[in-house]
Amino acid sequence: MIDRVRLINDFIELVSLPAASKKEGAVAAHLCKKLTALGLEHEQDEVHLVTGGECGNVWAYWPATLPDAPALFFEAHMDSVSPCGGTEVVRKDGVLYSDGTTTLGGDDKSGIAAVLEAVRSLREEGAEHGAVQICFTVSEEIGCLGAANLDKKRLLADYGYCLDMGGSLGEIVYAAPKLYDVEVTVTGKAAHAGLEPEKGVNALLLASRCLSLLPASGRLDEETTLSVNTMSAGVGTNIICPEAKFVIDMRCRNSAKLDGLLIKIQKELTAVVEEGGGSIAFAVKEGCPAMELGKEHPCILLASAAARALGAEPKLKTSGGCADSNYLCGYGLPCALLATGMSAIHTTAEFLKEDDLYDTARWVRQLILEAAKMKK
Ligand SMILES: [Zn+2]
Repeated sequence: MIDRVRLINDFIELVSLPAASKKEGAVAAHLCKKLTALGLEHEQDEVHLVTGGECGNVWAYWPATLPDAPALFFEAHMDSVSPCGGTEVVRKDGVLYSDGTTTLGGDDKSGIAAVLEAVRSLREEGAEHGAVQICFTVSEEIGCLGAANLDKKRLLADYGYCLDMGGSLGEIVYAAPKLYDVEVTVTGKAAHAGLEPEKGVNALLLASRCLSLLPASGRLDEETTLSVNTMSAGVGTNIICPEAKFVIDMRCRNSAKLDGLLIKIQKELTAVVEEGGGSIAFAVKEGCPAMELGKEHPCILLASAAARALGAEPKLKTSGGCADSNYLCGYGLPCALLATGMSAIHTTAEFLKEDDLYDTARWVRQLILEAAKMKK
């Protein structure tokens, strides 16, 4: 069974380490020690050669005693947002807080501690199980760098579970959007603002016409969002603005639909700018791929069954954000996003209920037990 005291102590130890993105070396070394103690094969990959961080992702593998059962993949990230690391945990009424000077680090050490304890408990009991692969990623908080750069050939599992979300036992994200960041450059023509403004073409004005086409709410429909949140323009108050740049953040849970929307937007903005005498260029940066699993995907059904076995009714949700699970889905590994109880994340008021941490470990454990009953 899950050892609650050991689990909480593991968590407290993990968050006491440095945790900033690209500085996960101490956490990785600590986890490798833990995995050795657990008797699991493990290694670090070399994504840091691309990301510029201290270390790569930490991978571990627990070979199956039941080779016909589906193989599972569990994932959580090692970094936290600043101010973080060296957390002094304050325990009060069954809730874990920081001392107020740092984030707690429940995002995402709650996931890491839960996975370690779940596997440890099953090994102690000598439970029969399918293969289990574990990956603790780096630099999730600065653009999912560990997940975005990992070698997909390493992925061996049938279903993946990313433990990195607020909410309680049974909350499962089954769909999340693909993201494009589109940098738009509108070029006009400089001229003196007082002497001969009519000889200029005001790029800022044309850019603002582009923006006026966008929905004020940022939401186009139930599965699509689109907004512009940064802009730069101009060289002087007395010069007709020759260039303006802005970035469109556009997301949709349906990849094909997002691609269609991108083409439509490019056409519409080009028409507006050219009509005003300017020119326009687009630099499209692909963000995360979509998670498009659907509620009936076996990966989701398995997570739901495990939650039910623990007495929790599954709550299936969609997300508008990007997580490591998006990238894993992009590599072809169906990967759901599971709640760990982390709360008020990305603030120094972050907290984690001990019961939620305990439930997360039970959920991971139950997932492995449910998978053990199945055939691939
Ligand atoms: Zn996180």
